Amino acid sequence: MSIGAVEAARNILTRLHEVMASRSNAQTKLNTVVEVIGECLDSEVCSIYLLREGMLELFATRGLAQEAVHVTRMAVGEGLVGTIAEEIETLNLAEATAHPDFMYRPETGEEKFHSFAGVPIVRRERAVGVLSVQHVDPRGYADIEIEALQTVAMVLSELIHNADLVDEVDSYAGASGQTGPEQLRGLTLVKGLASGVAVYHQPRITIEHVVAEDTEAERARVIMAFDKMRDQVERMANQAEFGVGGEHEEVLATYKMFAYDEGWTRRINEAIDSGLTAEAAIERVQQRTRMRMRQIDDPLLADRMHDLEDLSNRLLRIVSGQLGTAATMGLRSDAILIARNLGPAELLEYDRRRLKGVLLEEGSLTSHVVIVARAMGIPVLGRVRGLRGKVREGDPLLLDSDQATVTIRAAAGQIEAFETRLGRSRERQAAYAALRDVVPISQDGKRITVMINAGLRDDVANLALTGADGIGLFRTEFQFLVSATLPARERQTRLYREVMESAGNKPVMFRTVDIGGDKTLPYLRHDDGEGEENPAMGWRALRVALERDGLLKVQARALIEAAAGRTLNVMFPMVSEPWEFEAARKVFEGQLEFLRSRRKRVAESIRYGVMLEVPALAEQLDLIAPRIQFLSIGTNDLTQFLFAADRANPKLAERYDWLSPAILRYLRRVVRSLDGYNVDTTVCGEMGGRQLEALALIGVGIERLSITPASVGPLKAMIGQCNVGEIRAAMEGWLANPPENLRQALTDWAQERGISVD
Ligand code: PEP
Ligand code: MG
Repeated sequence: MSIGAVEAARNILTRLHEVMASRSNAQTKLNTVVEVIGECLDSEVCSIYLLREGMLELFATRGLAQEAVHVTRMAVGEGLVGTIAEEIETLNLAEATAHPDFMYRPETGEEKFHSFAGVPIVRRERAVGVLSVQHVDPRGYADIEIEALQTVAMVLSELIHNADLVDEVDSYAGASGQTGPEQLRGLTLVKGLASGVAVYHQPRITIEHVVAEDTEAERARVIMAFDKMRDQVERMANQAEFGVGGEHEEVLATYKMFAYDEGWTRRINEAIDSGLTAEAAIERVQQRTRMRMRQIDDPLLADRMHDLEDLSNRLLRIVSGQLGTAATMGLRSDAILIARNLGPAELLEYDRRRLKGVLLEEGSLTSHVVIVARAMGIPVLGRVRGLRGKVREGDPLLLDSDQATVTIRAAAGQIEAFETRLGRSRERQAAYAALRDVVPISQDGKRITVMINAGLRDDVANLALTGADGIGLFRTEFQFLVSATLPARERQTRLYREVMESAGNKPVMFRTVDIGGDKTLPYLRHDDGEGEENPAMGWRALRVALERDGLLKVQARALIEAAAGRTLNVMFPMVSEPWEFEAARKVFEGQLEFLRSRRKRVAESIRYGVMLEVPALAEQLDLIAPRIQFLSIGTNDLTQFLFAADRANPKLAERYDWLSPAILRYLRRVVRSLDGYNVDTTVCGEMGGRQLEALALIGVGIERLSITPASVGPLKAMIGQCNVGEIRAAMEGWLANPPENLRQALTDWAQERGISVD
């Protein structure tokens, strides 16, 4: 704002302050407001439209026909005023009739006015009205005038709210102005259904007071808030805890740049000079930024502007004292969390019994928060465009992550249909839970081992709940992912011990850290600091562990000590060559010897295993089999390498089928190569958790599965219905002479035999 603009706004605010402090009723106040603004901006027309019963109604005007007051009404989205409310956007037009949304209302007598400017009156990020000015001359309004109008609109928002003049924000439509149901699409990150209520991870701030009583006090508040915010940004940089994905450094650099940006501070101070409170001044400048953002075409720059918006929200929270996230403020019991993005640690702060689902504007299949959410059993829909603009705190939501949709303000019919689906899914879950004590034995008496995948302390409870045979894959990197710094050995030991104790007699296969690639840790980076072009095939898992053998040594000691008096099952991820296994085993044997020499209590015995995830290892199974006790096939990675198709790329997600002859023949060959060796062979990739895929795996000779806990019931049910001999014979036929669609052939085959394969 220029000095002139500051003064103009201050002048208007001073006069509005007097109006608002007067004892007159709300209508009289609005009548005075339009006169004051008209006078100050030298405008022939000034009108206020407010949202009543879902329509924008002319409440007060100077310059238009008085008979039109409370008569002229338009829908949100209709005409120029409706467009401003719908888009929450300013319009500044030299010739109003030239705008495609222009709609002539004869009762107002507005035909002689050519120029038009209007700003939305916003409350809780929703338009509750529109303030407009008009002139006979076809002229564009100066920035100063528009900014003054926007400031006035903020004051009006307070006046309108206090006087209870408009529809309560909570009872009408979303930002888009829509009152009916709206369905948004996203990308399924964790499947599942949830019905609940929108809860913002960081609740929006409601600004109660716009006009300052004491400008100096407001300035001091802003200075303090800036100091605090800069401190926080510095701390984030030092702790390297911030951020998800590998972008955090870039984001932090941008945050720092904005936190010290003089232009931003100056504009906020100017807004305070014009008579606003600290909160209103920050919001005022944020509105201006948002307006500019809409005009930016460059996605990169728009992203950076989002960062500024995040920072601005942070400043607002500090200055208003409304700190904390929804996790710390008494979460309601049917919460569906809304956020731009989340870190894994932030998600873990939530009570998983109360959190029903998560909606993210960003997020990807491999983001840490998704790995954790999957472990927590919470459905997540990501990449929902315009999420935060369209969903309000408290909105009822139907999250259908299976179909990649979320419905806001669902209609009765939709709710009913959803409830039916949810009910069916719950019934199925209950039926599966009832199979807890059922032993998975096929019709022809084959015992299939069904274990679960886990990674967090609380996951172990799923063993008892599902009646699974053990933990076939314990992803130790989860502890690393949710931690701000490398977990110390004692912390690791404690976790492993607790896991083994809770598992009782059931075995737990600990996998050493699979970090790197898509699971980056800020505190563990490649020495040369270079990004990798193909991280999934890069410096990850055992490759990192062997190079940073300090890391592996610490983990080995933690595991060996935690398993005191028991058998320790340990396996190594991404083994490509037998020598890698040998090197890793040596580290464990070395630590065992060291601990024994120190007379420490150690594991009674160690069983070693490898993950088969890299196709090359399958060519050397005869070399490695005599040295291992178990092998776990990680089909998530294995199949991405077999098909050269990035598992995190949504464009390829549907392209290749797990039930392709290529994969099934490959797996059959692996099983056969291990024939005659004493090696337990398990499949622990996501593939094994689906009924149809699991049936196919049994068909190629797999007898051990480790899967997500929710799949244990469905698999037990399927196993109880199938005949292993028959599926093996059928599979032999299909693999010798593949049908056009193996998935379809297998589905038909299962259905003919009454085997449930959803
Ligand atoms: C796999 O690759 O199949 C596997 C189980 O490991 P992760 O998904 O942790 O890479
Ligand atoms: Mg893997």
